Parts: sequence; C-alpha cells; structure tokens
Amino acid sequence: MGCPFCCSFCNQGIISGKTKAPTDRELITLLNQQQEILKRNNVCAEIAFFGGSFTAIDRNYMIKLLSAAKNFCDKFPEQYTGLRCSTRPDFIDEEILCILKEYGMRSIELGAQSMNNDVLEKNNRGHTASDVKVASKMIRDFGFSLGLQMMTGLYGSTIESDLDTAKQFIELKPDTVRIYPTVVLKHTRLAEYFNKGIYKPFSFDESVELCSNLLKMFEKNNVKVIRLGLHASDDIKNDFIAGTYHPAFREICESRNILNKIIEQLNILKGNTFNIYTNSRNLSKVIGHKKSNLNTLEKKGYKIKIFSDDFCKGEFKIVKTGVS
Ligand code: SF4
Repeated sequence: MGCPFCCSFCNQGIISGKTKAPTDRELITLLNQQQEILKRNNVCAEIAFFGGSFTAIDRNYMIKLLSAAKNFCDKFPEQYTGLRCSTRPDFIDEEILCILKEYGMRSIELGAQSMNNDVLEKNNRGHTASDVKVASKMIRDFGFSLGLQMMTGLYGSTIESDLDTAKQFIELKPDTVRIYPTVVLKHTRLAEYFNKGIYKPFSFDESVELCSNLLKMFEKNNVKVIRLGLHASDDIKNDFIAGTYHPAFREICESRNILNKIIEQLNILKGNTFNIYTNSRNLSKVIGHKKSNLNTLEKKGYKIKIFSDDFCKGEFKIVKTGVS
C-alpha cells in the first residue's frame, strides 16, 4: 500500500502473500492472539509494518495502525518490545518522523535498492540516491535505528554498481541492512524485460560470489546483515521466473566465505592432505551446501577430511596429515 510507483520487480501482492490490507480491528485481533503465543513461549517480538510503503499510506489509517500497535507495546512490554516499519526514502520528512516517534517506532528501514540513479530510474523506483542519503541522515538524527535494503542484479546494474551501493550504504552508517538478490516474478515489468531478452539476471554463482563479498564488507564495518535473500514462500515458488532464489541462500554465501578462507590458508600451508576441525555450529558451512566446498577442494587436488570438534575455537582449524 501507499506506493506511488510500481517498481519493475515488484508484485507486492505476491511477496506479502496478501492482497488485502488489515484493518486496525484485524490488527488488534492478531496482536491479541500473538501476545498469548509469545507469553506461552517466553519470547518477545517487535511489531513490524512491512510490505509496501508504510509512511506513504493514508495518514488516518497509518495512525490507527500505529495507535493499536502502541497500545499493545504499552500494555505488554514483556512481549512487544517496539515497532519497526519499512518505507520509501522519498516519504520521510520531519512531520512523519515526529509521528513515528510519538507512537514508539524504533527502527525504520528504507527500501533504497540501489545507490545508482541510472539503475533506480530503469527500475521505476521514482526516487534518487540523494533521497536515500537525506532520509537516512534524518532518521539517524531523530534517534531511530536505521535499516537499509538493497537489491542486487537489478535491471541495468552490474557487479561493480552493486558493490558501490554497499560502499555508499556503509558511509550512511546504517544499523542493519537486508540484501535481496533480484527475483523475476510473473506479472512484473521485469518479467516482460526478461521475456524480451532485454534483461538478464546474474547467474546463481555470480550472486553467491557478490553477496558473500557484500556480507564481508558489511560485517567488517559493523553493519548487521539481518536478511540475505527473500523469505521462502509458496507464492514466490509459484511465480518465480528467473533470478536468484534459494531458501538457504545466506548459508550458501557464508559457506563460500569460509571456503575462500580455507583456500587462502591451504595456499600458505604446503601439501595436499589435511584434516579440518570445526565446531558443530559451523560444520555444514565448512562442508558446504550439498558438499560443495568439499567438492571444490577435491577438484583443486586436496584430500580433505572434516571433523566436528566443539572445542575448536574460531570458524575452523586446519591440520596437515600427509606429505604431497
Ligand atoms: S516501493 Fe516497495 S512495495 Fe512499493 S512497488 Fe516498489 S518495491 Fe513494491
């Protein structure tokens, strides 16, 4: 709701799995049900308004939703710890931020998608990179937690322009980022471009290489990556045409980063037969999805055995076991 433009890649009805926005009464019913579940499980949660441009929706409706949510945060602080929303950078101004503050909003995420104006225009975003910079600064100055969302492999983008978007994000000092490799869905403008051969998405491997680098860049700069890849949903599976989508995409990227570190260390150590020890938490990432890391190392001529060792500190430890 609230979107003044239709972005090339977006069919929000499919992404959110809903076609009808909830009324404030429906929200109250939902929050009542969830409160009991949260209490029973002794966990807490934030109330998040996602899927659309929250600050661009009808003002009265926005305030009704905020007011209902705030009441639950005030009444059940053990279960509801605050509010967050996602919106467009061109729908942030002082008045909106004052309203959000008043109703207890804590985090605002901006759908920035790219910091390249040509990419933004080609994908009909309707805002510029400068809008992202101005809105980010205002959000931070107001004391909100700032989240930035980027998409990789959009129409008109390159690996370099996506890396540059990440660099520009880091300069804006967000608390969190979400990274979404572009998925081409049915009934979108991007699907048209793809079918006409005008748009070619990054290959799966290009996306993994790029996104594993983005993960490293953000982590190195203390920016928390709270999402990498779209959430798994039947709707996306049914409407998927092309692009990068995998339910374990983040783990695949983390695993690629571990593989690169292993190769770096193996290049320093001489020999070809090694044992790798890792704690059970990292075991699947060290082995790789469907043993991809093991297979890559084998193809490079290494004989590797991987062991789970919960006393292993750090991501892994390599021990040479033979002479080449
Ligand atoms: S602003 Fe977000 S929700 Fe709205 S059309 Fe664009 S991508 Fe979809």
